[in-house]
This record gives sequence, C-alpha cells and structure tokens, in this order.
Amino acid sequence: MIISTGTASGKSLAYLTPAVAACLDGGTILYLTPTKALAADQLRSLRELRITQLRAACFDGDTPFEERTWVRQHANYVLTNPDMLHRSILPRHAQWSSFFRRLRMIVVDECHGYRGVFGSHVAQILRRLRRVCARYGSRPTFLLASATASEPGAFAMRLTGLEMDEVTVDASPKGATTIALWEPPLTELRGEGGAPVRRTATAEAADLLADLVLADVRTLAFVRSRRGAETVALTARAKLADVAFSLSGRFPHPPGAAEQPITGHDTPRTPQDEPLTSQDSPATGLDGPAATPGRHAKSLDGHATVPDGHATGQGGHATGQGGEASGQVPESSLNWALPDPSPHPDWSDLPNKIAAYRAGYLAEDRRLLEKALRAGTLMGLATTNALELGVDVSGLDAVLIAGWPGTRASLWQQAGRAGRDGQDALAVLIARDDPLDTYLVHHPQALFGRPVEAIVLDPDNPYVLGPHLCAAAAEIPLTEDDLPIFGDTTSTVLDDLVAQGLLRRRPTGWFWTRRERATDLADIRGGGGAPIQVVESSTGRLLGSVDEPSAHTTVHTGAVYLHQGETFLVELLDLEAGVALVSGANPDFTTFARDITDISILATQRSQPLGAGTLHFGEVEVTRQVVSYLKRRLQSGEMLGDEPLDLPPRTLRTRAVWWTLPASAVAPLAEAGIDLGGAAHAAEHASIGLLPLFATCDRWDIGGVSTELHADTGLLTVFVYDGHEGGAGFAERGYARAADWLTATREAITSCECERGCPSCIQSPKCGNGNEPLHKRGAVRLLDTLLSPQSTTTG
Ligand SMILES: [Zn+2]
Ligand SMILES: [Zn+2]
Repeated sequence: MIISTGTASGKSLAYLTPAVAACLDGGTILYLTPTKALAADQLRSLRELRITQLRAACFDGDTPFEERTWVRQHANYVLTNPDMLHRSILPRHAQWSSFFRRLRMIVVDECHGYRGVFGSHVAQILRRLRRVCARYGSRPTFLLASATASEPGAFAMRLTGLEMDEVTVDASPKGATTIALWEPPLTELRGEGGAPVRRTATAEAADLLADLVLADVRTLAFVRSRRGAETVALTARAKLADVAFSLSGRFPHPPGAAEQPITGHDTPRTPQDEPLTSQDSPATGLDGPAATPGRHAKSLDGHATVPDGHATGQGGHATGQGGEASGQVPESSLNWALPDPSPHPDWSDLPNKIAAYRAGYLAEDRRLLEKALRAGTLMGLATTNALELGVDVSGLDAVLIAGWPGTRASLWQQAGRAGRDGQDALAVLIARDDPLDTYLVHHPQALFGRPVEAIVLDPDNPYVLGPHLCAAAAEIPLTEDDLPIFGDTTSTVLDDLVAQGLLRRRPTGWFWTRRERATDLADIRGGGGAPIQVVESSTGRLLGSVDEPSAHTTVHTGAVYLHQGETFLVELLDLEAGVALVSGANPDFTTFARDITDISILATQRSQPLGAGTLHFGEVEVTRQVVSYLKRRLQSGEMLGDEPLDLPPRTLRTRAVWWTLPASAVAPLAEAGIDLGGAAHAAEHASIGLLPLFATCDRWDIGGVSTELHADTGLLTVFVYDGHEGGAGFAERGYARAADWLTATREAITSCECERGCPSCIQSPKCGNGNEPLHKRGAVRLLDTLLSPQSTTTG
C-alpha cells in the first residue's frame, strides 16, 4: 500500500497504528527513511508513546557497535536507511534471522526521495530484502508513505516490484492557503550577451521576510542553498535593524542601549542588489551547497531527498554516503541570540526575531529553535530544505519559497508548513531567473488543479542492476526462480557478470566467489568514481569533496571555488592524486568552464512522428571535454579572457530523447533569416529547463546537445540525455510526454518579455558554449514546426 498525501495529513499515524499493533502481537517492523535525522525524530516520537512492549531502536552508522547486537536480538521496531540495509543488514542477514522471521511490515517513509539513480538502487535493495525475507519464511506488508505524487501506485510498484494499492485522498482538516506567484523585476544590470538580469529571488525573499515579521506574521523562507538562506536571514535582519534604528529615534531608549551601535555585531548591512545576493546569478554556476560539502559534510544527513545542490551535475548527492557516514559533532552555536522577552520594547532586539537554520545543528539546538518559533520570540526563519530533515515547525502563518523547489510535490510540501490550527495561511513562490520559474509564475494553471509530477526511476538500468545481482548472490546464491524478482533484463545482465568473472555459474545457480564484499560494487548515492578532495594548500585543511565528473567544471586549475561563503582560487587540479589545491582569495572575477560535447547514437529503441519531425528514444554515448574557462568581471560581467585547460574527455553511456526535423521543414526558416543552430540550441536549453515539470529531476540531472546537422541522423537534431551512467528514467519520461513538454517549452519562451533571450527563457547556467549561439524567435518557430499538425507543414 502507498499513502500519497500532503504535509501534516496524518501519514505517520496511518502506518504507526498497524505497525505498533503488530509489535504488540509479537511481530517486528522495519522502518526505512532516506536520512538518519528523520529516523532519530521518528524514534523520539515512538518513545513518547511510552509503550513498554515497543522496543524501538535506530540502526545506522551512528549506532555504537556494542548496541548493535542488542538491536538485532531484542528490538522489534528497527529504524534504518537504505544504505545500512544495503551494506550491513542484508549481507549479514543470518545475524538478523529472528528479526526477519517475525517481520510483519516494512514501512518506507518519505519514499518520494527514491527517484532517479538513487531510487533505482533502492528499488533493487528492496528486491534483495524481499528475497531475504522469503528465506526466513516471512512475507511482510510494504507500507509506503510519500508526498503527493502523480500515479503513486505505479511508482510504488516500480520501487518494490509488487502490486500496490494507493491512498491519495487527504481528508485532514485545513484552513485555506493563499498562494502568491511573485516575479522579481528586471534590473539595470546586464548579463551574458547583454541580457537583462532580474532582481534575485533571495533579495526579494529577504524583503518579504522582513516585512512579514514586522507585521507579526510567523514566516518560514525556503532558499535553495545554504549560503542563500544565510544571506536572506542577514539581509532581513539588517532591514529590521534599520527599522529598529528609526523607531529608537522616536521612542525613549532603554538605558545603556544607545552605547551599542544597533547594526553592529552580526547584522551586516546589505544593499539588496549588490553581489552578495548573487548566488542566484546563474553565471557562477555554483548555486548549491552540494558542490562544496564542507568540513561537516559527513554530519549532514546526505541530501538525498532535496533537489538542491545541483552543482554536482549529478542530482546533488555530493556528500556521498551521507545517510551512513558516522557523524562528527557539528558546531553547536546557533547564529542568533534569543530575543529579550521583556515587555519593555528594546528595539535593538528586533533583528533577533529572524534566524537562519541549516543542516548540521545538534538536536538540542533544533528543539530550541522549534520552541522559540512556537513561542513567537522567533518570528522568521530562513532555511534550506534541510529543515525537512528534522525540525518540527508546522504551524506558521506564511511560507516564502525562493525559487521553484523543483517539483509541484515539494512546492505543496513546503507550502503545507503554513497554517496554524486550521487557520488560513499564505505561501509565496518567488521566481528565480530561470525558464521553468518564469513559465510557472506566468502559467498558474500549471500549478493548480493538476496532478503533481510522477516520481521516476529505472530499476532496469544495467549499471544499477549488475552490482545488486552480485550483492544478492553473495547473500543467498541466485537461482532461476529468483530471476523474475529482479526484472526482465536479469538474465542478460547475469551473463555479462559471469563473462566479467564477477559471478560463477554452476548447475544450481549463480554464486559470488570473490573475496571482496559484493556490496562495494554499488555506490548507491554516489556519482561514480572517487571524489576529488578539495584541500587548502597553506594549511592542509580539507574543505570538502567534489565528485569526479563535476570536478572538471568546478575545481579545474584556475577556477574560483566557493565554500561556505568564502572564496578560493584553485591552484592545481591533480586528477591522478584526486586532489584540488586551493588558496583563499578575493578575486574580482568569476570563472566558467567551457566544454565540447559530442553525442553519438548507439541504439534507437522507440520512434514516433511529431509534427513535421520525428521523436526518438534510445541509447547514446556522450563525450564531454572541458577545454577552457572564461573569466568574467564580477560586477559588469565583462570578459577578461578565455584560458585553455588540459583535461581528459569523459564518456557517458546513457539514454536520451531526441527530435529531428527534415530539411524540407527547416528550409523556410533558414530562408526567413533564422540561424538554425542558434534556434535549436535555444530550444534545447529551454526544454532542459522545462523537463523537471514532467519528471522529478532537476536541470542538473540532464544534459543536452543540439546541432543543425548531426552525423548520425543527417538532420537538425536536439538531444536531451540523462546525466547518469546507464540512464535514470528522465529522458524516457520526456519521450512519453513530449507534446506537453515541448508545448510548455514554447510557452516559457514566448511568455518571457525579453527580446533576444535571457536566463528566464533560453539562456542556461550550465551551457558549455557560453550561451552562444542562441536565437529566441527561431526556437519558437522550430517548436511550432514540431508541434503543428503534420498536414500544415509538409509540402
Ligand atoms: Zn527571456
Ligand atoms: Zn548551451
């Protein structure tokens, strides 16, 4: 069964009731969540039930070894994560035999986080789990809890491999929420190619946050990056300090207050349009914290569920084994002081009504924040999605969402935080300079009264399936009877594994006979390859790590590297040693890597006519080579140079959707003076920006290539491919929804008021060609040709 309903609709109660009942009846429960923090919170609420027969315990990377035996032998409600299941519980299933024998129910909580490649891994882990259960004679019920999703039953079936019932009706009592769609104005600033630049979503969020707090409205601001959240909080506090300053002029000062400059200590004054807020500026290409996981990255719980941190180009799992890694103690000091609760107004305290929240806070600090919010001593909180991982702050009046959170599902989840005790609430979506954001604030119908997007995964990806077949064989040798559990492609993949010498075929089945641990073959949250360590050369301090594919673009020699708000210059990237040496610097320029991408078609799996053209889906090989980087002046965007780089090409075998147009269809456009290459390129960028509307990916999960004439097709061709080895299901979804997807793409371009293209429509923050050439009007004409009924375009 899958329950797919909104925030605070009572999903936990729905699985807790039967789960606890099963424990009281002598059964055991396995509870899975994507993160350790969530498991810890669940454990807390289970203990609050005060049922002595309920022996709940977490089993994760933080569980001390001396406690593990107790958990295995005595706990009847075990909370863990997929990483731990994969690496510890399943390989050592014999030690868990009494637990597995009595296993009645498997709760898969927050399962909307299991999308793309990570989701595909989890799907195979759950199949291994089913096989182990069968070994011990148990057939547990799977109960999945998800945020609202389209076709949750179909998703749940892909995830578990079982027929699933779905519950989607939310009958919980709620007040009305007013949703505002907010588009920041264009500024005088000019970006790439002289394109106009909008005021940043974070600057607008800071203004709104300060205004709402002044109006006594309890407000939560969601910001995509940690640095962005801190900027929003600091800027809003500075605004409150200004207000406090003018008020304190009109009202008598409390004694002593005048000696202290009000905007002093930690409230730097930030003019809203200056570059401190430029983390929204796509030109830096470094909007997320995931590329710079930081010293405490291991104590963060792996942002598996957050669509943030896209700078890795791999869906933001740069922290790697997050859910599993043992935690260092994060710093405990909060970045705010509790406001003075005294009834005499001390205006200098006003800024302390706003704070920033980030992942890595200790549980006590999180509880302190919750308490202050509930009591109203704290009125405004700026946060990344980290908040979803362990702070209970439902019961606010307003929610600000700075930038499209990636999916309608997360939008409703974040908006659902507002609404205290059934009262009415406000949620504001503030658009960033991005085609999808622009499209949405101009097309409210794309948000309301529509099913949310489907959660997409591809368990058949051979790069995912292979390692899990090895792990399964190591757990219990595989037999012919097991093959249907793992899907249609299993026997082909098994043949490959035998040929590679990873498995041995014997008359009774397939065996793992190697000394290594089979589970090491699957890197379930990783982007593949050993990560590059980012080290400060003068001190040897490890700042963080970047996965190998994104290292080429983010920490190449000469790159400006941002880490927790500090700026560094990369002195040297040594791929062989796996190290990037950096030093603190304050350059007045940004850098941007340029690459050459080649794509070749390996196999076409499906094709269908589309307007005057043809749509295809299949396997491709993408070769990318970072060849140089651009230096641009920070303020003006002025080009300072193009420096060559010597980096090896990287190849990726993946799946793609592509469309072609015949020469007869594009000839009239060329005659009308349209630059076909620029038009195709612009259409590609915008379509990459819009695909996340139909599949739960973000634009950093996918890539594109466009060309006026492709060697394999001989035609004008635009490719959009999955940025993960073997594919992740995103391109496949694009193929299935092509007409809707390309129609939305066309509308995103036409509804932007710029003349020749800007980041809100056809410019891409990750373009390897520096957004050249681009032709806005031409892109619309191409898409028209592709979307019009065929009879009108063939001649
Ligand atoms: Zn535009
Ligand atoms: Zn491009």
